[in-house]
Amino acid sequence: MTEKLESTNPATGDVVGVHAVDDATSVAAVVARARHAAGWWAGGTFAGRKHVLDQWRGVLARRMGQLADVVHQETGKPHADAQLEIGLALEHLAWAASHAPTVLGRRRVRPGLLMANQSASVEYLPLGVVGVIGPWNYPVFTPMGSIAYALAAGNAVVFKPSELTTGVGVWLADSLSEVLPEQALLQTVVGGGETGAALCRAGVDKIAFTGSTATGKKVMAACAETLTPVVIEAGGKDPLLVDEDADVVAAADAATWGAFSNAGQTCTGVERVYVHERVHDRFVEELVRRARDVHAGTDADAQYGPMTLPTQTDVVRRHVDDALSRGARAVLGGPDVAADRFVQPTVLLDVPPESTAITEETFGPTVTVTKVRDMDEAVRLANGTGYGLGSAVFSKARGPELARRLRSGMTAVNGVITFVGIPALPFGGVGASGFGRVHGADGLREFTFAKAVARQRMKPVLTLTSFDRTAGADASFATLVTALHGRATQLARRPLDPGDRS
Ligand code: NAD
Repeated sequence: MTEKLESTNPATGDVVGVHAVDDATSVAAVVARARHAAGWWAGGTFAGRKHVLDQWRGVLARRMGQLADVVHQETGKPHADAQLEIGLALEHLAWAASHAPTVLGRRRVRPGLLMANQSASVEYLPLGVVGVIGPWNYPVFTPMGSIAYALAAGNAVVFKPSELTTGVGVWLADSLSEVLPEQALLQTVVGGGETGAALCRAGVDKIAFTGSTATGKKVMAACAETLTPVVIEAGGKDPLLVDEDADVVAAADAATWGAFSNAGQTCTGVERVYVHERVHDRFVEELVRRARDVHAGTDADAQYGPMTLPTQTDVVRRHVDDALSRGARAVLGGPDVAADRFVQPTVLLDVPPESTAITEETFGPTVTVTKVRDMDEAVRLANGTGYGLGSAVFSKARGPELARRLRSGMTAVNGVITFVGIPALPFGGVGASGFGRVHGADGLREFTFAKAVARQRMKPVLTLTSFDRTAGADASFATLVTALHGRATQLARRPLDPGDRS
């Protein structure tokens, strides 16, 4: 008998959908159908693909309310927040479809003097079938960062949504098949970790994984068996820096939203704040004043909903308990607010650096605030975890400079998480936050392979790639190389200045 998966509303526990689970056999059948669609899709033109993706975008925009209902039911987040993530996903879909030709299309490159008889070109070809494994926290926006870019690059997609948000995944795939019923361009496979693992082993041409760092390692290990390439978009522990010249009110507003929106279940949510000692007290006062007005619930005024994953409440409580037992102070909230699925905001001060609230992803509505002597200390502490996903800086004079020194894939200056709404910017992490990029030109190229072609236009002056090569050609080659590169040695003798970026 086929195993069933129940999808529930985390606010009420009500069952909102029942889905048949895919095992390895059915995943293989889905991938085989995708393979057929991939051949057809890759054989088309960029304009043809854009036409289909634009039609799909229209359907998604017109039915945004319906899709937001499904997101709201399965995650518990407010309807308006669901709408926000769908709107942003559509921006990316539009960007990917319209920029694919310029980013991926064939372009000529210079062959260089030694190969002047050649004409050289490069283009980026689709990989084939891309498997997308998604999380539950932004069940539309996050997987669409891979799905939209993979489709625009000419691939078919098999999507394994989180078991908590299966209905959203099924809805997305159904909406594309309404536009294109004859081709299985985007299909959903249903289930938890076993179904995800089966997708990794199903012979797809790439896996785009978004989820926790721990699962990312398992995905990589499974994909290593078949040398299937992976993009890993994993967890974060994002810092926000507040400089002495910052707009403190704006920084506190951003920290409040960055830490507590979506119940803190945001991979690029603000989990740690480092504030210059000159503005620390003012910042804390403003942050706490604002956070007091924020609450979790199902009422119309609630800014965020329940913890979508029930066990996440325990993680939040453990991190708060650990910090307090090491001497931290809760100026708002504390362990008592993490009693059920609705977790109210917690602000922690004086948290020792070895506390789990500083070192591990909490993924809940808590934030730590640490006073620093100067911004060098802020940068050092901010870079002190293994994660490197996003970050934020509030500073009037030094924003871009401090941003550059933060070891994270993205930094918002005088804002939080703003980079996700700019489709041209690549998104992804370093270290324990993963590797590879979605969004932007890098996100399109991620789902392709570079195809290089060197075409002989005329006979070479020097024949180099033949056993008929003459001693004269060797001598001319040596003279030419010395003339071309000999000066480089003299230039390199100059003492190197590591600060010289010219
Ligand atoms: P998770 O790691 O528990 O699950 C992610 C997905 O992997 C789910 O679809 C799950 O079914 C699947 N999975 C589980 N075991 C698997 C296995 N062995 N093989 C293949 N697939 C498997 O993560 P989650 O709880 O759904 O999401 C929260 C995490 O996602 C947080 O750590 C958050 O930071 C991260 N996240 C990262 C980004 C990003 O872009 N970097 C975005 C959103 C969320």
